[in-house]
Amino acid sequence: MFKWLGTNSNNAGKPAHAGAPMHPADIEGNERYYGLQNFGNTCYCNSVLQALYFCRPFRESILHFPALQSIAELLPSTFTSAGESGADPDSGSTSDTDESGGSKSPVVGSSSPNLLRRRTGSNNNVATAKNGKPVIQLPKGLRANAAITVTGNPDDTLLLHLKELYYQIAAQKKRTGVVGPKGFSDKVKKENILFRSTQQQDAHEFLNYMLNAIAELILAERKKNETDDEAAPSTLPAGKTWIHELFEGELATEIRCLTCESTTETRECFLDLSIDVEANSSIASCLWSYSQSEMLCHKDKFYCDTCAGLQEAERMMKIKKLPPVLALHLKRFKYMENQQKYVKLMHRVMFPTELRLFNPSNDTIDSTDQMYDLFAIVVHIGSSPNHGHYVALVRSYDRWLLFDDESVELVSEAHLAKYFGEPDADPPGSTAAGYLLFYQARDMLTAVRKRTMTVPLS
Ligand SMILES: [Zn+2]
Repeated sequence: MFKWLGTNSNNAGKPAHAGAPMHPADIEGNERYYGLQNFGNTCYCNSVLQALYFCRPFRESILHFPALQSIAELLPSTFTSAGESGADPDSGSTSDTDESGGSKSPVVGSSSPNLLRRRTGSNNNVATAKNGKPVIQLPKGLRANAAITVTGNPDDTLLLHLKELYYQIAAQKKRTGVVGPKGFSDKVKKENILFRSTQQQDAHEFLNYMLNAIAELILAERKKNETDDEAAPSTLPAGKTWIHELFEGELATEIRCLTCESTTETRECFLDLSIDVEANSSIASCLWSYSQSEMLCHKDKFYCDTCAGLQEAERMMKIKKLPPVLALHLKRFKYMENQQKYVKLMHRVMFPTELRLFNPSNDTIDSTDQMYDLFAIVVHIGSSPNHGHYVALVRSYDRWLLFDDESVELVSEAHLAKYFGEPDADPPGSTAAGYLLFYQARDMLTAVRKRTMTVPLS
């Protein structure tokens, strides 16, 4: 194994595991907690796959590919925030209004294989699963295959491999274990030259690549079905998918010319947000600095169209639209000119489990703050981007779990503080620091619906 390259021969870089090994009795709900085998420095991939598996709408949408068009088709219980108690999808006691039928019935919004299997050949809204618990049918048009085997299939795609992998986990009888994402990991290597080497790769690059690749595959599938009269037309704007519904936010860059005061605004969308890290800071302060103005002067002067010449200007970044799932990338790898290489910034950046952000889309009358709950963290351990190791911490039913390739452990919430970053760690060994943070809007369903409704249909 190359896992500890770059650190001492002992396990200096290993995360300080605080928890005991997983015991089935420790597990609530109907979740499966499966470690992922490492096929030689594939932990950058494993940690991101685990983080996204515990984003319920993401997981469910993958499992329901290709039937699902919009996130809004998923059961409301899918959107219950990871932090909320009573979110147990398998308790059968959650009473909610079924969106498709409008009837008040017990909702079981789990990704359990029962639910998936129940899809075929039944018209009843509520079916009864083997274990006697009621299972609600998914909204019309959602179909999922009972078994998925794509490995070795010439028509395989990255998305089908991901569906196969997630299904492999969700359909397990045992609550814990290990699966080997060989098919998925081989496909990633085949599709993208960036991930082909046996060196450690960047988890952020992988996340970005995967979200974009999935969105493209959904769009390709939609295009293929356009000629099919049976297929439901997409309710989303052209070029947008449920990936965008979940992760896409909008940024605006405002540049104000200091000579003529004219302002130019450019907008761009993001699926994840990269933020600079500062020593002894917090996520909130890093986000705040992000939107602080910056002077464009000297050799960085701005070409002003009104003045028709280079002028001093003020640049400001603003988050115009917050996404239901906010994926934050902490820019811990910085290129150092004098060293001619990327160096990891060990800055201590505190990330809270609850994040309150100003919601710019409501800034008129009832301006409200958007509450976010942390549900996953991808941690980088080691001193440089190409050497080191990644692990994921995820929240599931008010518990935190540490996924380190094959191993899964329960950890306490207090354990998270170990990943804020330790700039002066001595002896060197605590190089573990939060690298990707995944927050979900507390009222995610409302957030999703609001967006779907405000986006003009094309
Ligand atoms: Zn000007």
